[in-house]
Amino acid sequence: MAYSSTKGRRPIERASKISHAEIINNQNVRALLDRCTIPSAPRGQDVPPLTVSVETPDRSSIATVVAVDGGYRETFVREEFPSASVTFIVFGPLLFQLEDLRSIDAQAFIAPEDIERLKNIERFTLALPTRNVILDGASSLSESVRKTLFEALGARRPPDEPLIDALRWLIFREWLKDDGKLREWTLPSCPNRGCGARDLTLRRDTPNESKCPTCGGPIYVTDVLRLHEVITDDQGAGGILGYLITFLEQLVIVHVIKSVLRLRPDLLREILFVKDGPLAFFGQTAPLHRPMRELVLFLLNQSPSGNQHQPAILNLVGIEKSGPFVEHAMLIEDHIPKGNALLLSDEYIYRYIVPGDATTQNYGTNTYYGRKLIYRSPEGSTYVVTVPTITETKSPSIADFPNLNDILSVLGQLRCSMYDNALIPIALANKLVSLSEYPGQRILEAFAREQVAP
Ligand SMILES: [Zn+2]
Repeated sequence: MAYSSTKGRRPIERASKISHAEIINNQNVRALLDRCTIPSAPRGQDVPPLTVSVETPDRSSIATVVAVDGGYRETFVREEFPSASVTFIVFGPLLFQLEDLRSIDAQAFIAPEDIERLKNIERFTLALPTRNVILDGASSLSESVRKTLFEALGARRPPDEPLIDALRWLIFREWLKDDGKLREWTLPSCPNRGCGARDLTLRRDTPNESKCPTCGGPIYVTDVLRLHEVITDDQGAGGILGYLITFLEQLVIVHVIKSVLRLRPDLLREILFVKDGPLAFFGQTAPLHRPMRELVLFLLNQSPSGNQHQPAILNLVGIEKSGPFVEHAMLIEDHIPKGNALLLSDEYIYRYIVPGDATTQNYGTNTYYGRKLIYRSPEGSTYVVTVPTITETKSPSIADFPNLNDILSVLGQLRCSMYDNALIPIALANKLVSLSEYPGQRILEAFAREQVAP
């Protein structure tokens, strides 16, 4: 049995002996609740006036879907105390043509060999030490995690570029020509143990691995994730996994955007990127939302907004399946007319979903690069999504979301509403993979090759 499942549970077991009535009647608890605000749902009749109608376009500019998701599992490599674990992370893009999707009968029989093919798809994988395991030559768990991640993202996968190139492209804004302005990234602290150096600057010409000028220890470009700030030998690295996987999924999106821009920029507007979860970076990786926001704005401004003949160059959506926004959507979905969307302003969010004050706070200002909305498709399925806006606003209108009609109508076709666990329903994914001609191959590689072929 693992250490955490014996000693780690004691406080909870003790707490469970305190009855609910005892807690709720306790004077300290009551005094606390008297001083708190808890968001409550709006009245049903208040919702419809806040919604906007979303027309289904006659012709969609979107032909291809790139869905990105990932997962991880911690595995004990030694079960005796103190236990040791590594975490296996899998992430990557699933690419398919909408044309294939339309030809699918949802009830079609899915052959076992199709499921087998899905498993054979090559994805990005990463094995990370997470507890009581250190690399040979490393002095701590933190150093082991940093080095493993650096090596994995730097791995060459010809003809694809390594993922670390996409990270550099993002943090140094390499989509912009070098205009003499400094495109820098500052690390708040040296990641090497015992070195107190602060504010280390990485530049476009800094190699992937450089040296700290104070301690001489290695500085990896991947240290911009600042994981070293939260990994300790005692507590392990389990706490970083959630936001590390969110980062990796978004790195894959950046990687595909970068590849497509290099091969055929006009193709970008035919692709819908679908991300599992909101469009945001969390925890130590949160500062990455800034260059991501700049990239998104750069792409959305490639063509004038509001001009229907020149749709925006980027279609990107994050789909949420859990959390307070999904719980809120379940509560009010019957009040949203079919084919309508509820665009969530800061005022609405802080009043009804999460506590806060819209007059002094901007929702997601340090993490998000898009705004949330709740969409009810013409069929009645409900989606909680984040979509990038062309302006920074506390109260978005439909014009702030370029190409929204297109994006939402494709979502309806994907049939992955908030009640499905998978990003794309598994059965559908299996069928799509068998229909596309990429099984067993690297999807992106095949995609890129097909698109450059005459
Ligand atoms: Zn140092």
